[in-house]
Amino acid sequence: MASTLEIRDLHAGVEGKEILKGVNLTLHQGEIHALMGPNGSGKSTLAYVIMGHPQYEVYSGDILLDGESILDMSPDERARAGIFLAFQYPVAIPGVTVAHFLRQAVSAVRGYTAQKNTNGPVGSNLIPMREFRQELNEKMRMLGIDPSFARRYLNDGFSGGEKKRLEILQLAMLRPKFAILDETDSGLDIDAVRAVAEGVKQLVGPDLGVLIITHYQRILNYIEPHYVHVFYDGRIVKSGGPELAHELEAQGYEWIRREFGEPVAHA
Ligand code: ADP
Ligand code: MG
Repeated sequence: MASTLEIRDLHAGVEGKEILKGVNLTLHQGEIHALMGPNGSGKSTLAYVIMGHPQYEVYSGDILLDGESILDMSPDERARAGIFLAFQYPVAIPGVTVAHFLRQAVSAVRGYTAQKNTNGPVGSNLIPMREFRQELNEKMRMLGIDPSFARRYLNDGFSGGEKKRLEILQLAMLRPKFAILDETDSGLDIDAVRAVAEGVKQLVGPDLGVLIITHYQRILNYIEPHYVHVFYDGRIVKSGGPELAHELEAQGYEWIRREFGEPVAHA
């Protein structure tokens, strides 16, 4: 049966300041949802709260994976349960390659670290190298990523497009039930936008639900979502089909402000 991720009347924020003001959203595996809204409306906060970022507090409401609350779960438990938010790019560490990083991530999410054996041979808590390599090569081929990419050092002069390719490769390797892709607005060149869109297109299927968070409609020229939600002042104010994204592109966000008023400041 398809999994569901349900956000139910979620209120959350930072240090008592409410940023999310009653978010309701249900995703099913196999669906692509786009969440669009002006800057500062709380889109990234929603992504962080779903992932369990410790900086954010949940005041009320719930987030349920297949009917079970995930609010008490740590970020890595949520990742193991099948929720994906691209890891922040770790600081550049000399000698850490893309392949090395991905092997660690895959091992952690698939629970290899749970059987940690401190007396065992080095690497006993990791997915076996051969198995990992085989899968990595297969996914890179599928996504059209050059094999040399795996040998690059993380964060070492990555272009916007390369960072996004790494994000999509992580997604392909981690095989989550739900992926939340926060397309931050700044510095996303067209190469990056295309990398994300093409990657998501390759990966969507009955086993993956995607929430694409975006300010611009641009990425939706490459990938058509099943549902579009307009996010404003901490909640979803309108939902519809792909036509809603085109409406937003044509009209911008001004009409939302007219219809729903200026954001309410909370103490
Ligand atoms: P968006 O992604 O839609 O641009 P954000 O979720 O980044 O919006 O931010 C929404 C609001 O919450 C902004 O006013 C922002 O300043 C505030 N905010 C977000 N994260 C924090 C934080 N960690 N501490 C304080 N304020 C925050
Ligand atoms: Mg944001």
